[in-house]
Amino acid sequence: MSLSQLSAYQIAQQVQSKKASCREVVDDFLGRIEAVEERVKAFVTVTGDEARRRADMLDRRLASGEDIGALGGVPIAVKDALCTRGVKTTCSSKMLENFVPPYDAHVVERLAVDGAITVGKANMDEFAMGSSTENSAFFPTRNPWDLERVPGGSSGGSTAAVAALEAPLALGSDTGGSIRQPAAYCGCVGLKPTYGLVSRYGLIAFASSLDQIGPIANDVRDCALLLQSIAGHDRRDTTSINRSLPKYLDALTGNIRGLKVGVPQEFFAQGVQGYVSDAVHKAIDKMAELGAEVVEVSMPSTEYALATYYIIAPSEASSNLARYDGVQYGLRVHEMGDDIVQMYSKTRVKGFGHEVQHRIMIGTHALSSGFYDAYYLKAQKVRTLIRRDFEAAFQKCDVLATPTAPTVAFKLGENANDPFAMKLADVCTIPVNMAGLPAISLPCGFHEKMPIGLQLIGNLLDESTLLRAAHAYEQATDWHTQRAVL
Ligand code: GLN
Repeated sequence: MSLSQLSAYQIAQQVQSKKASCREVVDDFLGRIEAVEERVKAFVTVTGDEARRRADMLDRRLASGEDIGALGGVPIAVKDALCTRGVKTTCSSKMLENFVPPYDAHVVERLAVDGAITVGKANMDEFAMGSSTENSAFFPTRNPWDLERVPGGSSGGSTAAVAALEAPLALGSDTGGSIRQPAAYCGCVGLKPTYGLVSRYGLIAFASSLDQIGPIANDVRDCALLLQSIAGHDRRDTTSINRSLPKYLDALTGNIRGLKVGVPQEFFAQGVQGYVSDAVHKAIDKMAELGAEVVEVSMPSTEYALATYYIIAPSEASSNLARYDGVQYGLRVHEMGDDIVQMYSKTRVKGFGHEVQHRIMIGTHALSSGFYDAYYLKAQKVRTLIRRDFEAAFQKCDVLATPTAPTVAFKLGENANDPFAMKLADVCTIPVNMAGLPAISLPCGFHEKMPIGLQLIGNLLDESTLLRAAHAYEQATDWHTQRAVL
């Protein structure tokens, strides 16, 4: 069996017990990338030379008896929204096409400390705005299960890389579903942590009250392993939570006797297909078989979440993206005779793609005087109602079980002219970001040979219960053992 078929956990064990060297691991994955990348197109940049150098350095440290960390020798794909010192970080935008950050994101530093090896920067929807990776300014990524279909988005490159075994782990970011929805579409496991658990220092901001960084892997244990590495306090992100962390791997006991699983009917509406609903209900039955207690809960504000998100996220984006004006970062378009306002304008017209421009306009409008109260302030009030629904639900249960996305992955181009259908892809994931809660997506079935995702939502900072529930279900089924054939 080739090393690229092993999980991150197994690879780390092989390296630690000297059954494989870091260099062998890296060469194996780079070989896999070479074999499939032309079809999958998961990466904007492959950092092969750098990865080999790092592998050799880790092997030398290992040979001298050093502990190289819990992820020692494990390759990882990093979403191109995360800053990497000396390596181009584009956010899949023309605006940052040649941007080389002078520093590493906090999570990238953490990975380095724990011995992981970055093999490349993963493609995404431009500035993380989208649900299919078709909004990348460079090229769309393909779903490894069916190359005619999208991998989801915005962390589509990260997820496709994991599903195609180009890396056993990936980092994504999730503002409205961008880790979980692609995980569902590609048959992977993706976790959005509690808001504040993982520092966003060095993540190129989209909507700051919603953005979180999280792990993507082929099984729950690998997800827990990566979460352990990246979670924890960092004073450079003012929203970072400062408290001691549990050992996430210890949560994977396989026992969910007595766990209360809440089922909110409202998450099975709004375009959720029958085959998705059936698969998720079967998964809930399975959890009941394992000893969980299933309770109905009601979350009446859920239906407003999507509309609320499309006020709040663009508003914050319009403010965050104001910094791309041709002065400090990235692209500058300045023609002879242009004054500074013309330079701003030409730079932003050329540098931003259609979806990004569209959102900046919506957000600027929603924040403008005279409209602020009607849109932004109102949206914030509805956001509070959504959060209260979750608070009430968690009085009655430990985790919630819902679909991750209403359908399986759609065909490339299928939703290009239907922005509403595109946005509906996040209808089940967005409420979770609104409330800042942790949630995980894991495979729970197939439709037309495409994976279906089960979403489990946890209470604030209760990633342990979430991982325990996900792991117990995973171990009782074999969906996670299936791989796309490329
Ligand atoms: N698809 C959603 C959007 O387009 C969410 C994206 C995300 O989570 N980054 O905004």
